[in-house]
Amino acid sequence: MGCMSDLGMIIKNAERLLKEIPEHVTLLAAVKSRTAAEVKAAYEGGIRFFGHNYVQEAQAMLEEVDFKAEWHMIGHLQRNKAKDAINLFDMIETLDSIKLAEELEKRCASADRIMDVLIEINSGAEDEKSGILPEELHSLAEATARMQHLHLCGLMTMGPLTDELESARPYFVKTRKLFDALKSSNLPGVDMQVLSMGMSGSYRVAIEEGSTLVRLGTAIFGPRY
Ligand SMILES: *Cc1c(COP(=O)(O)O)cnc(C)c1O
Repeated sequence: MGCMSDLGMIIKNAERLLKEIPEHVTLLAAVKSRTAAEVKAAYEGGIRFFGHNYVQEAQAMLEEVDFKAEWHMIGHLQRNKAKDAINLFDMIETLDSIKLAEELEKRCASADRIMDVLIEINSGAEDEKSGILPEELHSLAEATARMQHLHLCGLMTMGPLTDELESARPYFVKTRKLFDALKSSNLPGVDMQVLSMGMSGSYRVAIEEGSTLVRLGTAIFGPRY
């Protein structure tokens, strides 16, 4: 397959997925390890939300793509990258500690901006190391709510790393319950609007369980090499 037909396939995949996914669900393209040309093809196919896992690679990517879109940080964020991250991203989906929240708050205060954040939940997959445990959610949410430059607007979870379709469902149900509970607690300054869950192998199940944002890589771009 030549380069042109690969890009053509990405455009078609994006168009098809945008049609398939319900209107209330945001389709975000997960672009790690993709080229600028591939990412531009996804944009051409209609995608307006992009996610990156790495700050430095995102910086290079943003210099190469000239379209206007919303960019989310979806990988683990180290505190020493917080300053660069707030210049690149519109949302940090992976808030996972009070220390990171404090660093982001400090950086956003000096840049005079407000950052949308999601708290990442480790929803229980045993080998999963990213995100906080459910029992830590309330205290992190309260601490984040007190920070003037952070706007907590939802939760994100990875779920188990598996291709088995149904096996992710309990993790999504659990995260949805945490989302609902935090929403009903009505913390001042928090508006729970975004529930980011579902990847290429699991997005249909995630949407059935209440996802409002799916992060797709393979389904748009094809397999990663
Ligand atoms: C890579 C990645 C995705 C997309 O994974 P696919 O299985 O390729 O759809 C989604 N979310 C995060 C955090 C990722 O790192």
